[in-house]
Amino acid sequence: MNQREQLRITGGTVYDPANAVDGEIRDICIDGGGIVASLPDGAPALDARGMIVMPGGVDIHSHLASSSCNHARRLLPEEHALDPVSAPELLEGYPRRSGTGGTVPSTYTTGYRYAGLGYTTVFDAAVAPIMARHSHAELEDTPCVDGGIFVLMGNDEYLLRQIAAGERERARDYAGWLLGSTGGYAIKIVNPGGIEAWKSGQRNLAGLDDPLATNGVTPRGILETLTGAGNQLGLPHPVHIHCNNLGVPGNAEVTLSSMRALDGQRAHFTHLQFHSYGGPGWKSAAAPIMEYVNGHPEVSVDVGQVMFGPATTITADGPVEYLLHKSSGRKWVNIDIELETGCGIVPFLYKDKAAVSALQWAIGLELFLLSQDPWRVVLSTDHPNGGSFLSYPALIQLLMDRSVRDEQLKQVNPKLLAGSAVADGLSREYTLNEIAIITRAGPARLLGLKHKGHLGVGADADVAIYSKNPDVARMFSSPRYVFKAGQMVVDDGELRRAPTGRRLRLQPEYDDALLPDLQRHFERYSTISFENYPVQGIPDAPLPL
Ligand SMILES: [Zn+2]
Repeated sequence: MNQREQLRITGGTVYDPANAVDGEIRDICIDGGGIVASLPDGAPALDARGMIVMPGGVDIHSHLASSSCNHARRLLPEEHALDPVSAPELLEGYPRRSGTGGTVPSTYTTGYRYAGLGYTTVFDAAVAPIMARHSHAELEDTPCVDGGIFVLMGNDEYLLRQIAAGERERARDYAGWLLGSTGGYAIKIVNPGGIEAWKSGQRNLAGLDDPLATNGVTPRGILETLTGAGNQLGLPHPVHIHCNNLGVPGNAEVTLSSMRALDGQRAHFTHLQFHSYGGPGWKSAAAPIMEYVNGHPEVSVDVGQVMFGPATTITADGPVEYLLHKSSGRKWVNIDIELETGCGIVPFLYKDKAAVSALQWAIGLELFLLSQDPWRVVLSTDHPNGGSFLSYPALIQLLMDRSVRDEQLKQVNPKLLAGSAVADGLSREYTLNEIAIITRAGPARLLGLKHKGHLGVGADADVAIYSKNPDVARMFSSPRYVFKAGQMVVDDGELRRAPTGRRLRLQPEYDDALLPDLQRHFERYSTISFENYPVQGIPDAPLPL
C-alpha cells in the first residue's frame, strides 16, 4: 500500500474517549496529515472491520533522548551485545538504521519501537538545560514520533538565588526564558533542593521545610515558586514534579505535604508509585495518596509502574542513585551538571521474588485500580526506570484482566504486601475505553496538546489500529496499522516508513528586564557564554500559547 494523502478507515471499532466515542463502529477520514469529517466518494479506503481504532499513543513521561540516556548507553555495553537490532525493511527514502536495544535503545531503534506499539508522541521528562542541544540532536534521530523535552529546574543556581532573594517574578521570567532558550515544553522539578544539597556536600533534603545550607532555600519555596511560574506563564502542562525522597520508605508523607503545599493549583506529580511508600519499614501508602488525588481535580499524576525484569534507573536525583548503588551493588554513574542539576544512573533488575520489588509492583497497580478518574492518573513506567516502554502491553493486560493479575500475584514475594489493596483483592478491570484514556486521550489532555490523543476533526492523523485479540498484551504489542501525521508507518504489522517527527516546544513571553542580571550571572559563573546558551536551529515553530 502506498503513502496516501487521503484515506478512509472503514468499519473499525473506534475508541476515541475525548470525543465520547466508546467502541462504536465508524469511519475515520484522513486528509493530508489531519483528521477530517468526510472524504469524497471513491477516496481510497482501508478495511478495518474486526479491528480496534484508537488515537496514537502519547507518552507523558519517558527518558529517551538526553545526555543522561547516552551515558546509560555507554554504561551498558552488555545490553548492546544481548539485543543487537538490525535495520528494518523500510520503503525507499526512509532512514534504515541498525542499532542497539535493551533498556535504553539507540535513537532510531527507540523511534521504531515506539511506533511498533502504536505510540506517536513521546516526551523526554528530564533534560538538563545546558544539555538541551544534545536532546534536540537525539530527537532529530528518533523517527516516527513527535517529541519534546521537559527542562530541569529547581536545583539551578540562578533560580535558587532568585528564590533566596524573594524575587519570585524574576524567577518566573527566568523560567520562561529558559524554556524558550532550550526549546522545552514543560518545567520539570526533580527532588527540589535535594540535588543541590547532594552536590554541595549536604547529601539530601528530607522534609519540605529543610533548608539548603548554601542559601536557605527550602523544597517548599522551590515548589511554590515554580508551580506559580508555570501557571502564570500559561504553560499547557503544569509543573511536572518528582517529589523529595524518591524510593525511600515513609516518603508518602513528603509526597502528601507537597500536594497540600500546592493545594488548588494545577500540578502534575510524576511516577507516583516511587513516592507512595508508608513507614516505618516498607509498606504501601497507595490508599491515602489516592484518596488525596481523587479528591483534588487540580492534581494529575502518572504512575511509574514497576514491571519485573531488567531496568535502568536514570535520574537527575543523584542522592537516590547513590542509595541504590549501595543497596544493589550495581555499577553507578554520578555527574554534576555544573550550575544546573545532576545525573545518576544505576542498572537494576526488578525480581518478583524480591520483597521490595514486589511491593513496588503492587503499589503501582493499587494507584491505577484506586483511581477514580483515568483522565488524571495516566500510564507510565518512567521508562526505563520502572521498566521498558516495551512492557506497556503487559501492563495493560494486568489492568484489564484480574485473573492474569491474581496469577502473577501468586508468584511474587508476599512478605511486604500485608495491607496492600491489590493483595486484598481489587476486582476492578479497566475497559478498553479507560485504556485509551490512560495511554492517549488523558496524557494529551494533561499536556494541553489539542491536536493529539483524539480522532476528532482537526486532530493530527496519528492513528493506531489493532486486530482484535482476547490476549490484550499481544494485541497492544503489535498493531496492524499505525499512521503518523497521515502517513502509514506500520503496514500489516510491519514497520515500513519512518518519517521525521515534529518537535513540540514553547516560547513563553517574559519580561526582558531580567536579561542584564542573567547575563552578569553567566559572565561570572558559567562555562558557556550567555549568547551561545540558547539552542539555535530547532526544527518546527513553537506551539502557540
Ligand atoms: Zn522519569
